[in-house]
Amino acid sequence: MNNQLKIYNTLSGKKEVFEPLVEGRVGMYVCGPTVYSDVHLGNCRTFVSFDVIYRYLLHKGYKVRYVRNITDVGHLEGDIDTGAEDKISKKARLEQLEPMEIAHKYTLGFHQMMDVFNTLSPSIEPRATGHILEQIEMVQKIVDNGFGYVINGSVYFDTVKFAEEKEVYGQLSGRKLDDLLAETRDLKKQDEKRHPSDFAIWIKADPSHLMRWNSPWSIGFPGWHLECSAMSTKYLGSTFDIHGGGGDLKFPHHENEVAQNFGACNCAPARYWMHGNMLLMNGKKMSKSDGNTITPQQLFTGESPHVTKGFTPMAIRFFMLQSHYRSTLDLTDEALKAAEKGYNRLMESYQNLMNLDAVVDSTKENQELNTKIKSLLEQVYHNLDDDFNCPRALASLFELVPVINSLSNKQLDISELNSVVLQSLKDNFRSIIFDIFGLKEEDNPGGENEVTDQLMGLILQLRQQARAEKNWSMADTIRDSLQVAGIEVKDDKDGSSWSLKK
Ligand code: AMP
Ligand code: ZN
Repeated sequence: MNNQLKIYNTLSGKKEVFEPLVEGRVGMYVCGPTVYSDVHLGNCRTFVSFDVIYRYLLHKGYKVRYVRNITDVGHLEGDIDTGAEDKISKKARLEQLEPMEIAHKYTLGFHQMMDVFNTLSPSIEPRATGHILEQIEMVQKIVDNGFGYVINGSVYFDTVKFAEEKEVYGQLSGRKLDDLLAETRDLKKQDEKRHPSDFAIWIKADPSHLMRWNSPWSIGFPGWHLECSAMSTKYLGSTFDIHGGGGDLKFPHHENEVAQNFGACNCAPARYWMHGNMLLMNGKKMSKSDGNTITPQQLFTGESPHVTKGFTPMAIRFFMLQSHYRSTLDLTDEALKAAEKGYNRLMESYQNLMNLDAVVDSTKENQELNTKIKSLLEQVYHNLDDDFNCPRALASLFELVPVINSLSNKQLDISELNSVVLQSLKDNFRSIIFDIFGLKEEDNPGGENEVTDQLMGLILQLRQQARAEKNWSMADTIRDSLQVAGIEVKDDKDGSSWSLKK
């Protein structure tokens, strides 16, 4: 914890020195997925960004309580709080399943994808449906404090009163109060609200609504924004250090979260608000409706018109690390290929480094070289301390790659390197790549296939030669042996080809 960490705080629009509420400890809440469909790459980007942030806080020695929720109720189609159908309920109705079956299925899929991308599990992963009591209590507090009103069994947050009494409304999303208060949507139940910008914190369920709980106001369900206020307060306290999520959540989700926390506890929930930027594809927002989308699975296999080949999860993670979490990231075939090369080069260099053995000869020590290595390592941490600047940190790390490779291929004499510096280079390189960036070594299936292709090409060439020399018994032996090994050889006028037996 020697260097000062700076964090860009959406609230102030500035980088600020990070000072946790309790020295040595960090409470961080990140909005998790709504589990009604397969996780998409945009979600993955946000969770990988916060994974690196979590990892770096741990690396700095903080004891971090990282809470990332699962939204399994309350997130409505159209993101508006009245009238529209709950995303999970809707999917359950369409698939004729229990809402909990839907939530379970997609939570499992989400966890699998998080494992594939090597993200660390949060400390607590609370579910909205497991915290209905806490949400009801929070609604009650908001009503008791005069910031909520009940109409026909639903409870709404009074944004006009809140805006009049607290100056914070609009601060996070940077929206002007007039714009906020002009928010309106032409939806049913809209007329229940006193003002168009008011939002539901408890919604009376229609008779057909599948997810419903008893409450003092009606049989119903909580508004989407409420779960994050209730669960962050429960596990991190009414004010905690960091709240994160994708930038698309600033409004209305996070703005309304702030309002709810003030409404219930009269204090701001988080001191530092962090927002990740969006993942684009070929320069445009990823969107299912115009086909500008790709699933993680398609990206792994290459079965998509948007890519010319498949990419491994670590090449994709490396690709994500190459841009700052606050910048948009454009997914293109070329960028992925470049990232794959970068990842392979880094791993190769890591292997080379680990194979280096120190040779102690103080007469040969090269001061300049030793200082350069130390300062590049410091630079990596300096960049990470500057609002988790991964692309810059990677660039500093990559300046070490030619040095390591020259030591490995003996262009540079290893005895020029001080043994303590070599050990520190090994320890830090390993820690940066694996512990902080969260990369891991992976088998290269593409590489294995290439070797197999080359070997099969060679065998078929030898068989072709035997046939040309009318050495039929040799040609047949090769074919039969391959057959036993599960490989089928086909001869036609263009030559021979092979395939695995079905
Ligand atoms: P959701 O499941 O829609 O509630 O989203 C889960 C998280 O993924 C939120 O933090 C969103 O902000 C984030 N997210 C959604 N779409 C994208 C995208 N295209 N790029 C980056 N993050 C996204
Ligand atoms: Zn949230």
